[in-house]
Amino acid sequence: MIGLFKGMATTMSHLFRPTFNAGYPYTPKVVPERSRSCFALCLDDDGRPLCKACGLCERSCPSGAISITSSKVEGQAGRVLDRFVIDLGICMHCGICVERCPSMGLTQTGDFHLATPSRPQTVRVLFGVPATAQEESA
Ligand code: SF4
Ligand code: SF4
Repeated sequence: MIGLFKGMATTMSHLFRPTFNAGYPYTPKVVPERSRSCFALCLDDDGRPLCKACGLCERSCPSGAISITSSKVEGQAGRVLDRFVIDLGICMHCGICVERCPSMGLTQTGDFHLATPSRPQTVRVLFGVPATAQEESA
């Protein structure tokens, strides 16, 4: 019986504490500035990706979650990024890809709305044209 009252006292004490999920999802949740959820390519002043399509992040990813397609342009040094795809369904958010990038071209964002009932929709196209309807809607 004493245990019951102790439990109720704990429950009642929480009634007067500030809530952390008030109104969610109708009131947007403000996440910490450095939270790492989704990914984005960083852009230069002209809106072009800083990514040089070197493929280092793709090769460094322990999950094999990154897929990059690039092409060579005649008379231009380096390669041009065509498509940058990341599969959040197998990404473990270790951050190695962001740390390894020599161009500061990749960053993690606070967008945590990643849940989906559809496995194909965990694939995010960060740059380039979506290849499937699922990629389009992700
Ligand atoms: S955060 Fe880690 S697991 Fe996810 S894509 Fe980058 S290197 Fe791969
Ligand atoms: S994001 Fe960075 S590491 Fe990855 S391909 Fe682009 S330049 Fe290379």
